[in-house]
Amino acid sequence: MPEYRFLKTPSEGETITFNGSLEVPDQPIIPFIEGDGVGPDVSQAARIVFDEAVAHAYGRTRKIVWFDVPAGEAAFKKYNDYLPNDTFEAIRQHRIAIKGPLTTPVGGGFRSLNVTLRQVMDLYACVRPVRYFEGVPAPVKNPEKLDVVIFRENTEDVYAGIEWASGTAEANALIEFLKTKFNKTIRAESGIGIKPMSAFGSKRLVEAAIRYAIAHNKPSVTLVHKGNIMKFTEGAFMKWGYEVAKEKFAEETVTEQEVNELHGGKVPEGKVVIKDRIADSMLQQVLLRPDEYSVIATPNLNGDYLSDACAAQVGGLGIAPGGNINYMQGMALFEATHGTAPKYAGQDAANPGSLILSGAMLFEYLGWNEAAGLIYSAFGRTIQQKRVTYDFHRQMEDAELLKTSEFGKAVVENMG
Ligand code: NAP
Repeated sequence: MPEYRFLKTPSEGETITFNGSLEVPDQPIIPFIEGDGVGPDVSQAARIVFDEAVAHAYGRTRKIVWFDVPAGEAAFKKYNDYLPNDTFEAIRQHRIAIKGPLTTPVGGGFRSLNVTLRQVMDLYACVRPVRYFEGVPAPVKNPEKLDVVIFRENTEDVYAGIEWASGTAEANALIEFLKTKFNKTIRAESGIGIKPMSAFGSKRLVEAAIRYAIAHNKPSVTLVHKGNIMKFTEGAFMKWGYEVAKEKFAEETVTEQEVNELHGGKVPEGKVVIKDRIADSMLQQVLLRPDEYSVIATPNLNGDYLSDACAAQVGGLGIAPGGNINYMQGMALFEATHGTAPKYAGQDAANPGSLILSGAMLFEYLGWNEAAGLIYSAFGRTIQQKRVTYDFHRQMEDAELLKTSEFGKAVVENMG
């Protein structure tokens, strides 16, 4: 048990453990960060949905014991610390947690709380499923054709935070070093950023994507990279991706090239096809041929762009869920993917969809698929009934405008 400075572990409930796979008690303790801005509103609405889903699915046999842990502005006010160590310890101890959005205070030297949580806890896979919910106003003709799960590498690439401003001693020293050591000329007064990508980091991410595809009977895993230009980072990501497929999943996978050259263009029964696409072309592909893609594995920056572009395509930017997962250690932090939307803070107006669907992902990760299924179907039904929050209401005809809390209750009603 960790020694907390000010937190107290809930008196009921048990800790989830990990022994190669998760061992989930019937009353697991799950740390919950409400978040800043609209965070408390969406968290309260979502929590009612989570509790009801578990009660509907399992009666009295299962229950989540929520453990409120502080982060962001609320934590700063109370403990003079945006991310208290107690919060890290609670998440580490209990393994699976969920959070609302957190403000990134503007000002020198402050790193994003979200990026810090992901990196410090080594949550290396950012998993973003993107699918269409019937009735959601979407900008394309056939939004239902896109149904992808994006695995974005979460710890490396230009997000590693290794960069120096133009004119600093460090930037100048690097420019000088590259000139004298490697005869590479960089313009004076350049800012310098480093893009590290390792075999270890890339392979564990692609492995997670392939395992997911196999477990969920998905037809393909697409490695999305910009390896035609950045050969030893993005290109290596692709190479390592194909390697891990061969090394660990030779029986279950086949490459697109093998399908064409050895199998006459027909995918052998039960095999997951491993293919790759250049990142810029992929942004066209998801628009023009969305049904050719199912699981996507990609480095950090590509994944950032691609997941927002895909979510927007199905009209779901405000309801897109996400999870940050370390599959090797059984640690995960699920989160609303939107920000704190400060102008709606405390107004009971924001859409709680992103956090609600992130909770459904959390239940799937626990293996509580019945609770997750109830959330997905009740959420879909509520949208189809055109009972929506302001963001969808302004784009839909004849819709009923609901507050955040009312939307949560409507989802619960639809579980019945
Ligand atoms: P934002 O909070 O996502 O808000 C931008 C706009 O998106 C809002 O004004 C609103 O649009 C819409 N929106 C976001 N969440 C919504 C919801 N739940 N329901 C309905 N509409 C929603 O982005 P931001 O203004 O750039 O960032 C604000 C703060 O959030 C910053 O401190 C940023 O660092 C932080 N942030 C945190 C996370 C995270 O915790 N994962 C992610 C991104 C940003 P309309 O005004 O058009 O209605």
